[in-house]
Order: sequence, then structure tokens, then C-alpha cells
Amino acid sequence: RFSKQRFFLRGIDIKAYHKHFHKFSHKGDFGKVLLIGGTIGKTGAINLAGYAALRTGSGLVTLAPQISDPYQFQTIVPELMIFGGKDDLNLRGFDSVAIGPGMGIDVDIDWFVRILDEVDKPVVLDADGINLLARYPKLLDYLPKNSIITPHLKEFERLVGKSKDHLERIQMASDFAIHHQVIIILKGAHTLIAMPDGRQIFNSSGNQYMATAGSGDVLTGMIASFLGQSYTPENAAICGVYHHGLAGEIASQTKYRGMIASDIINAIPKTFVQLD
Ligand code: AMP
Ligand code: MG
Repeated sequence: RFSKQRFFLRGIDIKAYHKHFHKFSHKGDFGKVLLIGGTIGKTGAINLAGYAALRTGSGLVTLAPQISDPYQFQTIVPELMIFGGKDDLNLRGFDSVAIGPGMGIDVDIDWFVRILDEVDKPVVLDADGINLLARYPKLLDYLPKNSIITPHLKEFERLVGKSKDHLERIQMASDFAIHHQVIIILKGAHTLIAMPDGRQIFNSSGNQYMATAGSGDVLTGMIASFLGQSYTPENAAICGVYHHGLAGEIASQTKYRGMIASDIINAIPKTFVQLD
């Protein structure tokens, strides 16, 4: 059943997509990333995404936690910036925006629509961002074309529907990506990247030790980082997924079953050493 629409993503494919730092680079060259999410009791998710973005090479990363006192974050995350307000966020000032990790779904829909509407480029939508989309499918009309949606199986079923087996699921993901002109990253042991043009790309990196809390939040931060470094949405999805899996492999060499999401983040720099 493999066709020219289906590809297997390997390490040797990745280097060609990389952009490089040069001697006169400054932090603004590598993108301003905004991560929206994190509610009471679930602020770790947006935090992990933020650090993952920094380790992937972003110059400036801002978190917009959805809690009443966001600035309490500032004391524990020195490299990250915090945005506390709600209404005066200048979304156009960012090179990439990711929405959803730990966000909760009790958000003001008008606020969410305004964000999607104002961001004039593809966004990354994960976790509760996806759950919100599943609850209010109308929101899809506001999603910029080529946005990247990163569901795990449960989130996928909420958004797209249940499938009888994995082959049907692959088809459903691909149809959804084509129909809505978005990139669907269906996460799992062999993560599928379903492109809006119908291509289906299966990842080869990663392992079962990545099945741990926050692992997906790390992926979101990495993809947002690549997007912010002006990778195309397709290349950001491909590089994010492959590097994330490889970081998991590297970290698990010493952590085994004890690996946690922060270990994956700390291994990200080594993936560039290995692939470049
Ligand atoms: P989330 O459920 O949102 O935390 O995402 C989990 C992340 O870990 C995804 O990027 C998955 O692809 C990855 N992952 C989970 N389980 C496995 C597995 N058995 N093999 C490879 N990757 C996995
Ligand atoms: Mg997740």
C-alpha cells in the first residue's frame, strides 16, 4: 500500500533542511517565539515547550501563561520572557506562535478567535488547543493555512473521529490535512506527518521511553522554534518531529525508563551535533 505519496523520514534527510548560525548572528535572527497556554496546576507544559524552543535555537521565547499572576513564572524561568496581559498582546511582533499546552479549555472563545485571526501566519496547535478545536469545529475557519496540529491518539479522535484500525486512521489524518489545508502530526511510535498536499511522512526516530508526561509539549516548543527561525511549516514539522525523536533516543541511553521530558530537552543540542 506504499505509494509515492508515502515517505519514511530518516536522519540523513534532515541536514538539508537546516539553517545555520553565522559569526555575526544576533538573537533577533533566530526568531521571536510566543507560547500560549499553561493554566493553574498545568503550567509545566508551557514551561517545557519554552525551554525546548530555546534549546532548538530560538533567540527569544515568551510565555503567555493563562493564570492570574503570570509573573510568578519569572522567578523560575530566567531565560524565558513572560507576557502577563491579555488584550494588548501584539501577535504580529512574533515570528511564530504555538497555542495549547496546559491551557485548559475553559478559555474565552472570542479571545481565542481573535488570536487566530490576528496571527497572520501558520500557528502550532497542541493539546488543549486541539481539544478546543474539537469542541468548536467552527474555529477551523479561523486557523491560518498550513498551521501545524499535533494530536496524540486521544486528541486525534476528538478532533477527527474514531477509526477502526491504523490504516483507516492514516487515511483520515491525510484527508483532514488536505481538506483543511493544515499539517497534521499524528503522534505515536511512528509519528505521521500528513501534509496538505497529500504526502504522508512517517518518522523513524524516537522510542517507547518517550511515553512520559510533557514529551509532546517539548515537540510543540521545538516546532514553534523551527517556525520562528523561518523554516517553512513543512520543514518545521519534519525537523521538529525528527529531532524530537532523536533527542529522546539520546536521553534514553542514560535514563532508560526513568527518562523525563526535561531530559529530552537537554539532549536537543546533541541532535544538531549528530545531524549537522
Ligand atoms: P504527548 O502524548 O502529547 O505527551 O506526546 C507524546 C510524544 O512522545 C509524541 O511526540 C510521541 O510521538 C512520543 N511517543 C510516545 N510514545 C512513543 C513510543 N512508544 N515510541 C516513540 N515515541 C513515542
Ligand atoms: Mg500532549
